[in-house]
Amino acid sequence: MIRLGMFGGTFDPVHYGHLKPLEAARRELELDRILMLPNPQPPHKEHLVLTPYAHRKKMLQLALAEFPRLECADFEESAVGPAYTSDTVRRIIAILPPKERELWLIIGADSLLEMPLWHDPEAIFRDTKIAVLPRPGVNLEDARPDYKARVRILNTPLVDISATQIRESIKGGAVSSRLLPRSVLEYIRTNKLYEN
Ligand code: ATP
Repeated sequence: MIRLGMFGGTFDPVHYGHLKPLEAARRELELDRILMLPNPQPPHKEHLVLTPYAHRKKMLQLALAEFPRLECADFEESAVGPAYTSDTVRRIIAILPPKERELWLIIGADSLLEMPLWHDPEAIFRDTKIAVLPRPGVNLEDARPDYKARVRILNTPLVDISATQIRESIKGGAVSSRLLPRSVLEYIRTNKLYEN
């Protein structure tokens, strides 16, 4: 029996607001490992220009050297059109039969608020258990009540970091290595990402 977590995101770039709460979630839920799934083109970010997938995935791989139980998985790389979480969940459960796993989908609090707009949330509720990372500035009372009732709210630390804030700091010239791993910062500098 494997206790597995999955956590999707744009990771543009990955930062400690993802990594630290996620490692705490892994411990709280007693998971063996968590698959982090970079999304080539999330449906809710279709209007945004993202950094190419290959860079976002590489930054995630570099970051995970510090977090051995978190793993980069590229299930969504081959998605044609937007990659839906419900499809990714279906692919994972097809590989691992129910008796062999307990599967948790972990999402940030802002994602719980957006979940009514997702593709087929009922399938996700059916196929996984859902755990939510609290996030500064997000009031869980704003979540759809029947969704909130069906998820587990975790006691993970509140980390006030967003990728948007990091991208803006880089444009402004200064970003602290308290926000994201040094290896990722170096990759950003070498490849001149987020400079304009
Ligand atoms: P952006 O600022 O570009 O919108 P982001 O920092 O919110 O990006 P995403 O890659 O879009 O990062 O988020 C992936 C998942 O991580 C989402 O479920 C989101 O809610 C969660 N998440 C991101 N940052 C945090 C944080 N600081 N604390 C808790 N959850 C977070």
